[in-house]
Formats: sequence, structure tokens, C-alpha cells
Amino acid sequence: AGLDEADEAVRGTCEDASVCKRFAVSVGYWKDPYIQYFVRQAKERKAPEINRGYYARVHGVSYLLKAFLKKTECNCQIVNLGAGMDTLFWRLKDENLLPRKYFEVDFPMIVARKIHNIKSKPPLSKPIMESHSGESLLIGSRGLGKAASTKSEKVCPYCQRPDVDSHSLDSSRYSIIGGDLRFSSDLEEKLKKHNLDIQLPTLLIAECVLVYMTPQQSANLLKWAASTFPVAMFINYEQVNMTDRFGQIMIENLQRRQCNLAGVEVCRSLDSQRERLLLNGWETAHAIDMMKVYSFLPQADVKRIEGLEFLDEKELFEQLMQHYCICWASKDSSNLGLASITF
Ligand code: SAM
Repeated sequence: AGLDEADEAVRGTCEDASVCKRFAVSVGYWKDPYIQYFVRQAKERKAPEINRGYYARVHGVSYLLKAFLKKTECNCQIVNLGAGMDTLFWRLKDENLLPRKYFEVDFPMIVARKIHNIKSKPPLSKPIMESHSGESLLIGSRGLGKAASTKSEKVCPYCQRPDVDSHSLDSSRYSIIGGDLRFSSDLEEKLKKHNLDIQLPTLLIAECVLVYMTPQQSANLLKWAASTFPVAMFINYEQVNMTDRFGQIMIENLQRRQCNLAGVEVCRSLDSQRERLLLNGWETAHAIDMMKVYSFLPQADVKRIEGLEFLDEKELFEQLMQHYCICWASKDSSNLGLASITF
């Protein structure tokens, strides 16, 4: 596949992730009142092992994230890299757990789509306006919720809507930026325009994102993050143990969709995941597979979700879970205790 096609396939993974999440939510795995505004309901049922896998992914990331919010008392920033249609901002607001500022980054095309949803759906735009304390709230060139001006506005090439700049939105607590994570200096410049404060403790999240870059590109991103923020944590969720037969089948499936999977090279083992973080400037690093994460999740809730759907293929589920991992790393010059965050 050419570069553009490969990028297009990667953007397609955003749709997949949120359709799967929406399906699992509709079965009752966890609550997310916002996902319905971003994606359609799945046409077919998703297999129970997929739903359980997403449950562990969402809860695993959320567990570490909440530990970070607790250590920093929400006096921090979150930067969600490759956020896709993630609803975390809205869920945190409902739980009264908003950081000082929450940033999302994704390809401009994905961001345009997300902004379009936000603008057209009050349950999404209201929380942003409620948490906004400045005067005018700019989305592109227009105020949120205001009628389109009839002046000579350009048409967005992606969504065909009349916007001069539909690829970014900035408010006091929520900001979304269209960019390419493979170019970190451009990324930093855009984030700074949206008032990123590098002195604030910062949590960076990459959920199923790094694998789509070359090892060099993801290393650069990790290095940029480690060298930019004096106090930070990085959470990465992605494939691991891809060298065995099961891993090969997973790779073939993704290749069939023409995704650029240059990054699977680093998904060899949990050790290589940890090593990558340490080699790129992080002080502490952990990596555990999702079967482990699953065993660490609050068991009462795990019991509840295990009652939702009958899972026939226990072995398949376990294999699947052993091929995904959560890795987290920290840097903590202020001694907030980030190094002790664990399951
Ligand atoms: N993190 C979201 C989640 O877990 O629901 C979305 C995951 S989706 C599998 C991967 C996301 O990363 C897509 O939205 C894709 O557009 C984004 N992405 C991948 N490579 C990127 C890059 N180089 N620059 C910006 N976004 C990228």
C-alpha cells in the first residue's frame, strides 16, 4: 500500500475501536453515555472475547489514569495521542475528575469528524462550554453552537462543511488538534498554541497508536515526551508477543487491511516494550500483558461482566489477552510518587 493508503487504513482503525467500544457498552460492560454520539451501532454482534478484551483495555487504562489524577490531585494535563473518538474527556467531567486541561491529537481528517460531532450534538458541546471560562469559544473560526456565517467561508476538504479551520478546537479545559504524531516538533508547536504548559505534571496516553508507526517514529515520540515534560507519565496500550503463531495471524489480519504495521517490530516482548521506554528517556517502566491486567481488575466487577455473555472459547480469550499489553512509564522530578503507580 502507498503511504496515503496506509494512513487511510490506520485512520480506519479509529472507527473499529469505537464501534467495538460502543457495542460492548450496549451489552453493559461499562457505562459510556457519549460513545453513541460518535459512532454507529455495530451491524453485527462482536464476539464475547472481543468485548471482554475492550473491557480490560478501557478499565486498565482508566485504572492507571485515575492513579495519576490522584497523585497530582487533578493539577495536571492529559494529552491523548491518537485519541480517535475517545470519550474520556466527557466521562472525566461527569466524575468531577477533569485535569486542568485535556488535549487530544489525531489526524486532521479524524479531528474534523470529531469536531463535527461535537458541534452538532449538544450532549457533547455542552460539557465543553460548561467547563469553559474564557469569553469566546473558538472552534475553527466560529463560536461553538453559533450559526454559520454566510461570508465567504472556505469549505473543509474533508467534511465539506463551511469552516475556515475545522481541524482544531480550543477551550479552557478541552482542546483537540489535527496533526501527525510522527512529527513531534510540529506537534509541540500546535499544543503550545493551545496553551500546553510543559511545567504541569502531564499524562500522555497512546491507546493502540504506536504500533502504526515505525520503531524509529514511536521512539522519537517517546523521547520527545520524556525530554519535554519534567514530570510525566506515559501509558501505552498495544500488541505484544507478536512473534508466535497467534501473533503472526494477528499481523496477517491487520496486513490484509493494508495497515502500516512497521511498529510491530517492537511488539516482540514485554521486555522490549519496557526497554524502549527506558532507552527513550523514561525513568521507570512497566509492561504487563492483558491477562495480568484482567486478573488485577476489581474482581466484583469482573464477575459482573463475566455474567453478561457466555464465553465458550476460554483459551482463545486467554491467547488474545496475552497478545496485548499495557505499558507505563514515569519521570518525576517533583517527587509526586509517580514511580509507585501500579496495579
Ligand atoms: N486511542 C483511540 C481508542 O483507543 O479508542 C483510537 C485508537 S485507533 C486504533 C488509532 C488512532 O490513532 C486512530 O484514530 C488514528 O487516526 C490515530 N493515529 C495513528 N497514527 C497517527 C499519526 N501518525 N498521527 C496522528 N494520529 C494517528
